[in-house]
Amino acid sequence: AHLARVDAVDEKVHAFLHVDREGALAQARAVDDRRAAGEPLGPLAGVPLALKDIFTTEGVPTTAGSRILEGWIPPYDATVTRRLKEAGVVILGKTNMDEFAMGSSTENSAYGPTGNPWDLTRVPGGSGGGSSAALAAFQAPLAIGTDTGGSVRQPAAVTGTVGVKPTYGGVSRYGMIAFSSSLDQAGPCARTVLDAALLHEVIGGHDPLDSTSIDAPVPPVVEAARNGTARGLRVGVIREFGGEGFQDGVMRRFGEAVELLTTLGAEVTEVSCPSFESALAAYYLIAPSECSSNLARFDAMRYGLRIGDDGARAADEVTSLTREAGFGAEVKRRIMLGTYALSSGYYDAYYGSAQKARTLVVRDFARAFSQVDVLVAPTTPTTAFAIGERADDPMAMYRADLCTIPVSLAGNAALSLPCGLAPEDGLPVGLQIIAPAMADDRLYRVGAAVE
Ligand code: GLN
Repeated sequence: AHLARVDAVDEKVHAFLHVDREGALAQARAVDDRRAAGEPLGPLAGVPLALKDIFTTEGVPTTAGSRILEGWIPPYDATVTRRLKEAGVVILGKTNMDEFAMGSSTENSAYGPTGNPWDLTRVPGGSGGGSSAALAAFQAPLAIGTDTGGSVRQPAAVTGTVGVKPTYGGVSRYGMIAFSSSLDQAGPCARTVLDAALLHEVIGGHDPLDSTSIDAPVPPVVEAARNGTARGLRVGVIREFGGEGFQDGVMRRFGEAVELLTTLGAEVTEVSCPSFESALAAYYLIAPSECSSNLARFDAMRYGLRIGDDGARAADEVTSLTREAGFGAEVKRRIMLGTYALSSGYYDAYYGSAQKARTLVVRDFARAFSQVDVLVAPTTPTTAFAIGERADDPMAMYRADLCTIPVSLAGNAALSLPCGLAPEDGLPVGLQIIAPAMADDRLYRVGAAVE
């Protein structure tokens, strides 16, 4: 049924880069066989899922939205992919994304944009716009995204779906194509809080193949999602998010969500996080710096595209020609920014300052969480914008992640869920709930209460 739905709508939505029809049907049949044989099955066995094209999938093309990986077929599965398969989840295919997860609209994909199912002339957010659009268009009930600065939460918010950025280290990064390794985190996407929790338990947990993976049990997220409550909970509203640049309808729905929390028995106070003002600037030094190092592996020798290999050119010339043709404009901008910020003479002024700002953000969260159990904020300053609207204005694009980036810098956990439609445009608004590291279950407990 889901494959039929993909056939019916994906020409318009363009959520998928690759549909793995045979693989999906084979997995579905395997689950049927196991059921027929009376073997025990997990809660998600047989449930279809849309996988962001940043995870390696053995034998199935993986591009990360880039030309430079066109034609590359990974010889191995990411840990997330493997865990999904072991749980009997049916992977329908790979979803569209901004190239190497750099963007907030999915317009930076080398393979064309994805439409927002609420209004196909608008973006579905990014970088994981394909995953969220697939959920909103009912092409899949579950999806996986990755969140470096907001790429799970921001697309969830603007497509009216649920997206979670687990605590950094809570889900393995093995086989997830690296953008900014100190920030990258895989997360579950779904249409309900409980579905997201069930998926979180499948993909989460320690992995010896990822040196930053946390060696502790997954927080009890499913139990929390089944027992939603906000009674007695101390909730902090982040004072700094609001005012200029924030759409009225977004703030209106956010205000109503906060009122609902009070009605449900939460104790709401205002909390100030003054260093969040520097978070965006710090992120746009740290993420490009790490990407300039991570993307060095795309050298035309190891993967995918190779241009100018005519036997007469030197290897470095082939590398340059391939990168020139294989990387898009935003990726090149970030590699240059990052290389500059890391170069000797500028390192202290840029990368060093950004790391200090990152520490201040961590301290603001620590102070806030000494007073409250969770923080809340709008997920995005505005609803979905029009395709093309911010394409020539990187700063306007970067501001889409104003409210999500601090969490990424600090490595704690956050969930976005729908909180109504903005009255002025009828488009979905997201409520972001933020918890301390390793307290991911709190997100689901509160989320299930306000859902
Ligand atoms: N939009 C942000 C960026 O372009 C975040 C992307 C992400 O989380 N992958 O870097």
